[in-house]
Amino acid sequence: EDAESRRLEGEPARTGDGTAITVLVNVDGLATIADADPDVCDGVGLTRTEFLFADGPADEDAQYETYRRIVEWADGRPVTIRTLDAGGDKPVPGITPDGETNPFLGLRGLRLSLAHPDLFRTQLRALLRAAAHGPVKIMLPMVTVPEELVQARALMDEAAESLAKAGVPTGDAPLGIMVETPAAALEAARFEAAEFYSIGTNDLIQYVTAAARDTASVAYLQDPLSPAVLRLIAEVATAGRTRGVEVSVCGEAASLPEVIPALLDCGIRTLSVPPAAVGRTKRAIAAHRLG
Ligand code: PEP
Ligand code: MG
Repeated sequence: EDAESRRLEGEPARTGDGTAITVLVNVDGLATIADADPDVCDGVGLTRTEFLFADGPADEDAQYETYRRIVEWADGRPVTIRTLDAGGDKPVPGITPDGETNPFLGLRGLRLSLAHPDLFRTQLRALLRAAAHGPVKIMLPMVTVPEELVQARALMDEAAESLAKAGVPTGDAPLGIMVETPAAALEAARFEAAEFYSIGTNDLIQYVTAAARDTASVAYLQDPLSPAVLRLIAEVATAGRTRGVEVSVCGEAASLPEVIPALLDCGIRTLSVPPAAVGRTKRAIAAHRLG
């Protein structure tokens, strides 16, 4: 990290012409927060909860304790926690199906959670309980059509009701979606129950370009600056502005200095990046003037 990035890391992010930009961090496990200072960010934009499922699913109390620790670390800042995103590049033994010809197009992310309501209910209960300790936002991965969000919302409402009946403390948590499929990006405005959007460019780019994210020989196609990708990102930014809900970018593209100007020009005002990339992200934001 250069001196300018280090200096800017501790300051609120602003473009060269003074527009405030929200910079959040991505959390991949408790090790991420052990090493990171919450004061350099505006909250957590993505928690990848797969680490809790490495040795089979963690039970409700273990999940709750882990989510609560992240909420306490964030110290009043919003914490976005993604429900299990098993499948594709993140197989979870015993949970993801064997024998799919194309796991990236198979039962993964929210599709898998909806197919395993018991697993999903346990995670939703743990998240709602953690929300009693600070602002939690619940984020659904790999959403394709609005009906999936409606189904998830119903399961979340059921979980909240059963916790309330049992007298277990919970908090309200906004429910939002990751935009990772071209269908969700093109139709973003129709997800009327989405309380926020977060664009997962790692997956969105692979599905737009039909080039797998783990296949080096087609990496030349995985270009976040390609017009097809930027058009979809701008579409989602417009949908969010029209609906009055936040749109962030949480894929790797959000922390690439050569891509950040294009994201800001598309109308994106929130970026979520690995903690180690906060300084260089703020530096790239400061160097850009909105046209
Ligand atoms: C993405 O797809 O851009 C994303 C942030 O999620 P993951 O990399 O965990 O699939
Ligand atoms: Mg993804």
